[in-house]
Order: sequence, then C-alpha cells, then structure tokens
Amino acid sequence: MLDKIRNWRVRRTVTRHPIAEPLWQDALNRCAPARRLGASDQAALRVLATLFLERKSLEPVQGLELDDADRVLLATHACIPILKLGLDWYDGWHSVIVYPDAFIPRRSHTDAAGVVHQGDAMMAGEAWGRGPVILSWADVLGAGRRPGHNVVIHEMAHKLDMLNGDANGFPPLHRRMAPRVWTQVFASTWERLRDDHRNGLPLPIDPYGLQNEAEFFAVVSEQFFETPAALREHLPEVYRQLEQFYRQHPY
Ligand SMILES: [Zn+2]
Repeated sequence: MLDKIRNWRVRRTVTRHPIAEPLWQDALNRCAPARRLGASDQAALRVLATLFLERKSLEPVQGLELDDADRVLLATHACIPILKLGLDWYDGWHSVIVYPDAFIPRRSHTDAAGVVHQGDAMMAGEAWGRGPVILSWADVLGAGRRPGHNVVIHEMAHKLDMLNGDANGFPPLHRRMAPRVWTQVFASTWERLRDDHRNGLPLPIDPYGLQNEAEFFAVVSEQFFETPAALREHLPEVYRQLEQFYRQHPY
C-alpha cells in the first residue's frame, strides 16, 4: 500500500511538474556525465532530478539567486551518482545550502588529540552526516573545467559514504560485492599513490584525494563520472569497484 501511494506521488510529481524541455537541454549541455548517457538513462535522470527538486530544499545564501535553470543543473549533477541506486540513497537529509563562492566554514572542531581547530580553509563544498550539503556555486559551475572535477558529485559521494556511519571511504556495498576486495583495492591504491606523491611522481588523481580514505573515495567518484576513461586506464581496479557500487559503466 505504501509503495502504491509512493508510486502515485512520484507519477503525480513527474507529470505535473516535469522539467521543461529547454531547461533539461540546458542542463545536459552543462553536465558532461549526463550528456554522455544514452536516451533511456537520460530520461530516468530527468525523473530523478524532478523528484530531487521536490524533496530537497535548495537554499542560496549571501545574496546568491538561483533561477530554474540553475536548480535543474544542480539537481542533474546531484542525481548522476544515484542514477542506478535510486533517490532513497539520499534519504535522511533535506537541505542544499549554496554559497556564491568558496566559503570558510564558521565552526570549530575537535581533533583526535582533543585540540579544537577553527576552520580557516576555503571550501568548495561540505557534507554533514545527517545535515545539509553545502556548495559553492562558482565551483558547481566549474564542474569539468578542471578535468575530473565535480564538486556536487564529490559531496554526494560523501553522503553515500556516510549512509553506514562515519565518512571513511566505505559506503554500504551491494550484496554481491566483496567488502574485503573493496577495502584491499582502495587501501592499497591509496597507499601506493601516497608513496608516489612523496617521491614526486605525477598522480592520476587530484592530490586532495590523498588526505584520507573518505576524500579518496569522493575524488575517484568525481573522476569516475567526469573522466571515466582516464580513471579506468590509471586505476582499473578502483574503476571496477566503482562500477559495481554505482552500477554504472560511464566508460
Ligand atoms: Zn571531500
């Protein structure tokens, strides 16, 4: 019964408030991972983006204004990772706060040694466990401008990672996936790249991914969708694990 009500609501939203064709074409033009999809996947993505806009609250701050095209673009980027997982994977949070540009989080945090730090680094995005996703609009618009970068996909990957606890690069895996293989592939690749970086060797990923396991998962997720051929060439085992997790084959 609940499923029936839910399906009816979904149908009603999609028929009554579909994303208008010009807005959808504009979003496809500006979102490379969406543009590369086949027609039926694009249609499914359009439905997901419609529902995303209904269920999530996009909250521009500091004088930023987002028009309909902006909102559709943001929702399109956001729904790429869950195209084959479903919108339920984004349950448990509601808001997407959007700053005009890179922001400095106004908070302090306590590290493992009990030291409180005042955040002073400029951020392009941030995701809280059960709280909002926070994005810099300038960085949303910059998706793909630096190859492999997509701040929306990055923060959404953190959200998926945190579905089973802390952000640690270990999202809830599907039944047929082997957790031990995932951990082995990600840990050994991360350590090898850290060594390469220390030795001054060129990296196939943004060095930001070397900060910790959570950032590594988020950074390779960006590349999986933005520059899949390069990720598959340089980190084939990681690519294969991401294929299984996201249930997509972007290359
Ligand atoms: Zn991150």
